[in-house]
Amino acid sequence: MSTPPLKTRERLSEVRYEIRGELARRARELEAQGRTLVKLNIGNPGAFGFRAPEHLQRAIADHIHGTDPYTHQQGLPEAREAIAAHHARRGTPDASPDRVFVGNGVSELIDISLRALLNPGDEVLVPSPDYPLWSAATILNDGRPVFYRCHAGNGFLPDPDEIEALVSQRTRALVLINPNNPTGAAYPRALLERVVAIAAKHNLLLLCDEIYDGIVYDDAVFEPLAPLAGDVPCVSFGGLSKVHRACGWRVGWAVVSGDRARSADFRHAMDLLGALRLCANVPGQFAIEAALDGVDTITPLCQPGGRLYEARRAVIEACAASAHLSLNAPAGALYAFPGVVGDAAKGFDDHGFALEMLETEDVLLVPGNSFNVPYRNHFRVTLLPQPEQLRDVFARIDRVLSRRAQA
Ligand code: PLP
Repeated sequence: MSTPPLKTRERLSEVRYEIRGELARRARELEAQGRTLVKLNIGNPGAFGFRAPEHLQRAIADHIHGTDPYTHQQGLPEAREAIAAHHARRGTPDASPDRVFVGNGVSELIDISLRALLNPGDEVLVPSPDYPLWSAATILNDGRPVFYRCHAGNGFLPDPDEIEALVSQRTRALVLINPNNPTGAAYPRALLERVVAIAAKHNLLLLCDEIYDGIVYDDAVFEPLAPLAGDVPCVSFGGLSKVHRACGWRVGWAVVSGDRARSADFRHAMDLLGALRLCANVPGQFAIEAALDGVDTITPLCQPGGRLYEARRAVIEACAASAHLSLNAPAGALYAFPGVVGDAAKGFDDHGFALEMLETEDVLLVPGNSFNVPYRNHFRVTLLPQPEQLRDVFARIDRVLSRRAQA
C-alpha cells in the first residue's frame, strides 16, 4: 500500500496567481527547447533592461559593511524617516517613522496587513479586475474577498454606490489599487473622496496600493489617498520595485495614517508580525533614503519621448488600428488591458487565446480572467518592452485574431 501524498492547505484551491502559473511554466519548457519568447506576463523592469538609478545602486554599495545586522522589524530608522518625510511632503497627516513599516516588497506587507486585520469570515472589498495577490492574501488569512466591479465602459473606475451596496456587517477593509494594475486607471480626487466617505461611514480600513504612484501619462494625475482620508484609518503601500525599477531588491513600505487611537491595535499587530519575520532585506533598505530624497527619475520615462510613454503609445496605436481590439488607454502604471471585440470575440476564451499566442507566436500574455473578472475577452500586457517590440507583438496578436474572426 502506498503512503498517501502530503496534504496542503485546503483554501489554496481558491487561490490563483496565473501571472506566474501554467502558461509561464509552459513558456519555460518552450525556452528549454530553444524557442525565444517575448514574455509580457510580469511587470519586471530589470528583465526588459531597465536599471535602478545609479545613486540607488551607490547607496547600497556605500552602506554595506559586511556585518549588516538585522534591523528593527519596522525597518531602518533612516529609511523610515525618509518614507515619513516623503509622505508628509505629499500631505499625509501626522506621517511619522513609528507609523512606517518596511517590508520585503509590498507583497509581504499586503499579507502582513491582512493577517493583522482579519478574523475568520471577515470580508474585504477588492476591485475586479484585481492584482490577484490582494484576493489571495485575503483568502489565506481566513477572509473573504468581495469584488466590486470596475467596468471597462466606465474607464475601469469603480462605482462608489456599488461599493457601498456591498458593505456588510462583516466588511473590515476596502482595497484600492491606484494607479491600477491591470487596467491602468488612475482615480480622480472626487472619486477617492467618495470612497473615503464610505470607509468613514462604515468603519472600514482603507488599504491603498500605490506601488505605481509616480507612473502616470498625459494629463493624468496621481492622487495619494492618505491626505484625503484625514482621520480615517488608511494604509498606503509603496516601494522601489516599479517607480525606481528595483523590483529584485524586494523593498516596499506601508504607512499607517488616520486617527492614532483607532489604529493602535492594528499597528501593534503589524509590529508583532514584522518581528516574527525579523526584518526586511537590509541592503535594499539602504537605497530608500536615496530614492525618496533624490531626483525624480520616473517622470521623464512617462513623458513624450520617454520609453514608457512611447511603449504605451505603440500599444494604443496598435489597438486603435486593429478591428479586433478595444482599449481604455492606460492613464498610469505599467500595463494595458485590451478587450477582444467583433467577430474575433465570438466564442473567445482568453486562456485558449493566450496558449495559442504562446505556442504559435512566441508571445506570453496573461488572460484577463486571471484578474478575477467574470468575463473572458481580455488580456494583459506589460508596457516594459521597447516600443518596436510591442508593435511587433501586436502585429502577431492581430494576425491570430484575424484568423479567428474568419474561422
Ligand atoms: N501591488 C501591485 C498592484 C503590483 O502590481 C505588484 C507587483 O507587480 C505588487 C503590489 C508587488 O510589489 P513588490 O515588488 O513591492 O512586492
